[in-house]
Amino acid sequence: MSDSVVRNVIIVGSGPAGYTAAVYAARAQLEPLVFEGSVTAGGALMNTTEVENFPGFAQGIMGPALMDEMRTQAERFGAELIADDIVAMDLTGEIKSVTDSAGTVHQARSVILAMGSGYRKLGIENEDRMSGHGVSWCATCDGFFFRQQEIAVVGGGDSAIEEATFLTRFASKVTLVHRRGELRASKIMAERAFANDKIDYAWNSEVAEIQGDEKLTGVVLRDTETGETRQLPVTGLFIAIGHDPRSELIHGQIRLDEEGYVLTREGSTETNQPGVFAAGDLVDHTYRQAITAAGSGCAAALDAERFLASME
Ligand code: FAD
Repeated sequence: MSDSVVRNVIIVGSGPAGYTAAVYAARAQLEPLVFEGSVTAGGALMNTTEVENFPGFAQGIMGPALMDEMRTQAERFGAELIADDIVAMDLTGEIKSVTDSAGTVHQARSVILAMGSGYRKLGIENEDRMSGHGVSWCATCDGFFFRQQEIAVVGGGDSAIEEATFLTRFASKVTLVHRRGELRASKIMAERAFANDKIDYAWNSEVAEIQGDEKLTGVVLRDTETGETRQLPVTGLFIAIGHDPRSELIHGQIRLDEEGYVLTREGSTETNQPGVFAAGDLVDHTYRQAITAAGSGCAAALDAERFLASME
């Protein structure tokens, strides 16, 4: 089945990047069609509590409330929002098509990709339930909540070391939990961490259990060699074991880097396919903030608007 209308722009994704692109595209009279995703509509901030660093909310705002505001704002200007997943895309021709979960094909002259990226999880009980209640995937976002507290960081690569080092600005002690007996991080990062006396190491260890009712009270660590367990009382657990950009549907059509992030032309949101733009965490492995995602969503809508004008 095919929707016979050829739209100006289809936006895939409903985080800060997708909704901001929708606000701008709708206000530019482009009548965007937005696919929000079925389970995760609203994006990564739906899994958190307080957001204190999004400008304009002096007292902070709950993640889901912020996303609800963005959604309402996009709708107010006429964006059409559909809480469904796109399961296939053909972005190579002049008219691009995306297929929803019912098999209906939707067409547009331009597409904005804003599918975000998933934080890798440990895959253990209580991990999701305690997200925003002591378990976090973002030191920049949540470090401030852990002033003078003892916390743990899981991971052994550069980003884990960067998070652990950054978190020593707030925490009284940071325990780095790593499955192996040595770090994977670059030498210079590792040396910086070893010189920081607020960082302790739990070598050959993995998190076996996340404990706490309303708030995190501790974790159980399991020795990866002996299987022995021990208790680590912490009020914060930062999981820094990597991210997976949601680019599986566009492999082979859109140029990606070796980790799967979309490559855009420098200073623009343009991808290698004319009329296809990308924004947010799907592109960005450096900043990964709601405000930077929103900013690039705005840029993608403006780029799409210019592209469409140039086709007239
Ligand atoms: P996302 O927010 O990830 O949204 C992408 C969405 O696209 C998906 O959720 C899904 O709904 C949709 N989608 C994906 N694939 C498809 C498909 N095939 N079809 C249809 N829809 C699809 N940042 C801050 O600035 N401050 C904070 O306090 C903060 N706290 C955080 C707390 C947590 C727990 C997490 C996980 C992140 C936090 N961040 C915070 C980071 C911030 O949430 C991200 O940087 C931001 O959400 C990225 O926006 P995005 O629009 O690129 O992607």
